[in-house]
Order: sequence, then C-alpha cells, then structure tokens
Amino acid sequence: MEEPFLWATPEDVRGARTTDVYFERTLKVLKGEGLDRVEVHAEITISALPSGYGWAVYAGLREVLKLLEGKGVDVYSLPEGTLVRQNDARGYRIPVMAIEGPYGEFALYETALLGFLAAASGVATKAARVKKAAGNKLVLSFGARRTHPAIAPFVDYYAYVGGCDGVSCVKGAELLGITPSGTMPHSLMIVFRAVKGDHTLAWLAFDKHVEPGIPRVVLADTFWDEVEESMAAAKLLGSKLWGVRLDTPGSRRGDMAAIVREVKWKLEAAGFRGVRIVVSGGLDEYTIPKLAEAGADVFGVGSAIANAPFIDYAMDIVAVKVDGEWKPIAKRGKLSGRKQVYRCWDCLTDLVTLAGEPRPSCPKCGKPMQPLLEKVMEKGVLKAEPEPPQKLREKVLSQVARVEL
Ligand SMILES: [Zn+2]
Repeated sequence: MEEPFLWATPEDVRGARTTDVYFERTLKVLKGEGLDRVEVHAEITISALPSGYGWAVYAGLREVLKLLEGKGVDVYSLPEGTLVRQNDARGYRIPVMAIEGPYGEFALYETALLGFLAAASGVATKAARVKKAAGNKLVLSFGARRTHPAIAPFVDYYAYVGGCDGVSCVKGAELLGITPSGTMPHSLMIVFRAVKGDHTLAWLAFDKHVEPGIPRVVLADTFWDEVEESMAAAKLLGSKLWGVRLDTPGSRRGDMAAIVREVKWKLEAAGFRGVRIVVSGGLDEYTIPKLAEAGADVFGVGSAIANAPFIDYAMDIVAVKVDGEWKPIAKRGKLSGRKQVYRCWDCLTDLVTLAGEPRPSCPKCGKPMQPLLEKVMEKGVLKAEPEPPQKLREKVLSQVARVEL
C-alpha cells in the first residue's frame, strides 16, 4: 500500500513501528530465553545539553504517558515543566524519569519516548530562553512553517508551555484551547495592489471582513518604507490599529533596531500613540534584546523555536529485580540503583540520593529539600490527569525568572 505521506501515524507509534530494530531483536532473544518478564528499573537522564545552555525545561511527559498507558509499568517522573540541570550539586547525573516493570512491557518504546522528550524539551527550552530574552514583551510562535506539518501542533503546544504568549498554527492553538495569533501575509497586499492599484485597501478590507475581536495588526513593509506604510495604516485605521508588523527582508534590513526606533518615534510624533511594533524574521534569544530595547513590543519567532536544538536524553537500566530484591546494576559511566531527586526551592539546589535515604537538607542554605520524582503511572494507569498547558507555562515562567540565560 502506498503511504499518503512519509510519516508515522499515532497507531504506528503506539504499535512500536518507530522503534529501533535492535529492541525488537532484543525482545525476541529475551522471549526465547524466558527473560522478557524480568523486572527492571530504567532511568532517563539528560546526556547532553545544547552548547551554551545551563538548564533545560523538562517536557514531553504528556506524550510519554500516552505512549505507556495500558502497559504494565510504573512511571516516576519530575513534574512536566520542571527546569532541570544535567547534574546535581555534587556532579551526579539527575534522573528525570524512571520506568519500572517487566522489561518486555516497554523495551520497544524507548526510541519513541526518548524522541518525545528530546523534541518537547528542545522546543520548550528554546521558547523559555526566547521569552526570557524578550522580558515583559510578547512572544508568538510562528514556527508551523519551519517544521514538518505532522508535528506543527506539537511544536506549538510545547512552545506555549515554554513561555510563548500565543501560537500561529490553527491546530496547535486548538489543542492548547487558545485563539491562534496572526497578522496578514504579503500575498494579501500584492493581490490588492495588482488588481486595485493600492495595497493599503487590503488593510481596510481586513478590518471589514475579519472578526472584530482579532487585533488589527497591519503588515507594513510590502512596497514602501516601513515608516511610510506604518503612517498610512495609522491614518486609515486610526484607533483600531493595534500594531504594525515589520518583516523587512534581509536585503533591506541594515539596522533593524534603528528601523523599529524610527517607526515608533514618527508614529508618536504624528499623534499615533500606543501602536505596537511587531517584529518577525530570523529572531532568537540573541537578537531579541536589542530590538526590545529599541521599542519592539511583540516578537514572532519561527525557526529558532521550531528548529530548536533537541535535548539529548538516554535511558539506562540501573536496577534489576532478582529473587524479589532490587539489585543495583548499571553499565559503566552510569549510576546504579533506584534514586530520588531532591530540590531546595529556596536556592534551586538539587541532590540525587539512593531511594529510601532520609530526606536531605540543602547543602547550600540548610533548608529542607523537596522530592521531585513522583509516581505518575501505576501498572499503566495514570495517577493524575496531565496538568493543563496554561498551568505548565506559568510554572516554567516562574522558574525561568530565577535563572540566568
Ligand atoms: Zn537551598
């Protein structure tokens, strides 16, 4: 049968069709030897952070739990949206998740679950970095066109969880339960200019036809200089004009911050106060601060978030149940044994301990530490409903406020 598109369906993922083949072969061997029901404790750690990152947003738990639902496993995890470093205060690798149960129940899902975590955490972490760089300005995820359409809603979901204020993809917004954000493409002005001889008529037509609740943001760089287009839009739409978007092509940019500054100044000098400046095109956490300082109010970010460097996670067996007892065992380079992670929420210090050890005090400030790993799934059944994205986003933002970029 010819595939309509080159992608895996949800049934393919649930049916382990996206697994690396060596897990299929391993399972075959274990089954052949009667060892596939051996109970193991496998933990997931961050094996590499992208260069320059001191922390990541742990994300993708929602998808992993959907994948493991109905399998005979227990899952322990950090809460989704937890800011996490690779190592604890003593340099020990922090487990972010642990799966416990007969190895045959989940061996085939390692590939997919690591992929979910890598992609979700990569996107959420980049969004958090971009939002932090933007300060109190708005950040919109415009990344749908910069990724495979099958995962565009996933990218928008985790871009929002990471801190974006809105998303442009219709399906992404639907899954988030928010109204999609967007302005207008250059094609709208081109059609009006070609047929009616005046592209500014497109702005009036937009105002006439689009629902009243949608902010009037005019794309102000299609044919004329940004100042000229912005002034024309302000004159035509008056107080209805929420903002102007500048998506100036690279060949005309020069100094974008200076263009933003000039548009803002001249609009105000002409009496059009409070018109927001929306900037898009090639933005990331490194280019945004200068534009924010120049007076830009909203940032549309595509590639940087949709093509964010992924967070590399690894899954390793660290204990095996033999004769009813958990036996600590791990490959070289990894820490054996079932563990707990403690955090001091006062100074954000983390400690990894063996499970069952007494709760430690913070080695930095002496305050009591809180356990981070909690059982989220028992024998394939969710212990609690996943937290809604709005709540996850607030959690991420409150933690991001306390760390450096
Ligand atoms: Zn502390």
